[in-house]
Amino acid sequence: MARPILLAVDDDASVLEAVVQDLRREYGAAYRVLRAASGQAALDALAQLKTRQEPVALLLSDQRMPGMSGVDFLERSRDLYPEARRVLLTAYADTEAAIRAINAARIHYYLNKPWDPPEEKLYPVLSDLLEDWQAGYQPPFEGLRVIGHRWSPKDHKVRSFLSRNHVPYRWLDIAGTEDARKLLLDLQLDPDLLPVVLFSDGSSLVDPEPDALAARVGLSTQAAQEFYDMVVVGAGPAGLAAAVYGASEGLRTLVIEPEAPGGQAGSTSRIENYLGFPSGITGADLGRRAHIQAARFGAEFLTQRATGLRIDGQYRFVQLADGGEVASHVVLLAAGVHYSKLEIPGADRLTGRGIYYGAALVEAAACKDEEVYIVGGANSAGQAALHFAKFARKVTILVRGHGLSVTMSKYLIDEIERTSNIVLQPETQVVAVEGEHRLEALKLSGPQGTGCVPASSLFVFIGAAPGTGWLPPSILRDEKGFLLAGPDLRFEGKLPEGWREQREPFLLESSVPGVFVAGDVRHGSVKRVASAVGEGSIAVQFAHQYLAGF
Ligand SMILES: Cc1cc2nc3c(=O)[nH]c(=O)nc-3n(C[C@H](O)[C@H](O)[C@H](O)COP(=O)(O)OP(=O)(O)OC[C@H]3O[C@@H](n4cnc5c(N)ncnc54)[C@H](O)[C@@H]3O)c2cc1C
Repeated sequence: MARPILLAVDDDASVLEAVVQDLRREYGAAYRVLRAASGQAALDALAQLKTRQEPVALLLSDQRMPGMSGVDFLERSRDLYPEARRVLLTAYADTEAAIRAINAARIHYYLNKPWDPPEEKLYPVLSDLLEDWQAGYQPPFEGLRVIGHRWSPKDHKVRSFLSRNHVPYRWLDIAGTEDARKLLLDLQLDPDLLPVVLFSDGSSLVDPEPDALAARVGLSTQAAQEFYDMVVVGAGPAGLAAAVYGASEGLRTLVIEPEAPGGQAGSTSRIENYLGFPSGITGADLGRRAHIQAARFGAEFLTQRATGLRIDGQYRFVQLADGGEVASHVVLLAAGVHYSKLEIPGADRLTGRGIYYGAALVEAAACKDEEVYIVGGANSAGQAALHFAKFARKVTILVRGHGLSVTMSKYLIDEIERTSNIVLQPETQVVAVEGEHRLEALKLSGPQGTGCVPASSLFVFIGAAPGTGWLPPSILRDEKGFLLAGPDLRFEGKLPEGWREQREPFLLESSVPGVFVAGDVRHGSVKRVASAVGEGSIAVQFAHQYLAGF
């Protein structure tokens, strides 16, 4: 934590030097003593300190200075550091003017020059003022700050990215606090261009792309090597398991993941059925632990999105969103699934403005004391309902069917029944959403007919679609886009036409040799953390067998 600052201001260099020396002698251990030769220079210095969130405890200014008087400076300093103690140094002749200015400029004290001996004439006053200041001082938050708008999809994306990557930040809602707007204006940033990410060194990123933000918070966006034994696409449970086994068994392993390690599980408030965690584990925690474990064995992680796959002889090239590509012998596709979109009027426009896909845990605190709607009857919806119930006044689960018993695990249904602020609304569908700049109402169709209810947050957990459109046609998939692997590649008993190998495809191998598939993205997979982990681990064994043929 930076030491708080005492700023001395005087245009007379010898007087300034004397003040600084006296301040350093008494307060140097606990405070940093800075100097400025004019009021304007002092204001500029304060603006910079403010940008870096450095605490300023005391301003000690001479009155008679060219350009800006001490009183003017101290008055203007209040815009930047209203809590700093303000002390004016005056010559005897200026005393009356200084006293008159005290009320107007809210100066805390004035001192006459010379102040010798400081033990009698300077330190008692300043120590008293500093004690006062210390009593009301709250050390500033030293991490990132995100200034944005609650109902903005871009803001939601930035906050999700930071929290899923375990980067601590403080969020300032531009609509909720004047301080946020003022801070932006102080930094000469346009409050209409949001979100803004402010770093502790005073720099900022306006509406950053994920890769720019990733690079700035220390996540790697460039591969360290030109060639890897295995490139894993996706760091969900399947990809992370493959990274742990691959790297621990000596494969040079690169994992490509645009979000944070953890995959869908990362958005889960609590996984209760994963082996070895009897009291459950949060998805974020599981992802973080697996990430550390894989990295410890030497797996490299890249915060990037895979956008293409190129096959050239025995080499496989995974193309990246920034235009680069990485080469390997083996690729493991573990890109999971994402929730299907609500195909109803207004849903696209309001996504990220009150409509969210998946648990969007980052929004939970913002829903405090509000009513939250959840669409879906599977375990993921149940977990989310229980999580939001801790913050929201009421959580309503909307399901198409008669109830939850067919789609949700019993332990979750029991817990939901025990939670008084969760309500189940069966046989009900959202048929439209309304709102100008943010979600304001849902049009529901149910046993009682069709009608509108006011709503500000809707979390959608329906269907799951694989995002495999970026892969070349040579990687075969089913009609929904799930990837075919191993025995599933045989159609009417025959292997695909493009299969040139003199062997059967390995169990998790796709229609392109050396390209493997694991987890939810695979056709016919069991959509569970343990299954994904199992497949990711097994895929590594087949990768070894494939590599042994070189
Ligand atoms: C809210 C919720 C609760 C759940 N609760 C449970 C539970 O309690 N128990 C249980 O067993 N299962 C649960 N599941 C299911 C479980 O999380 C999944 O089955 C599991 O995460 C699948 O792992 P995966 O690695 O195959 O895919 P995912 O977890 O989907 O991970 C895939 C990763 O690939 C990344 N990716 C996608 N496209 C690209 C690309 N082009 N380039 C690079 N990376 C890409 C994604 O960002 C993602 O991180 C839950 C799921 C959800 C959503």
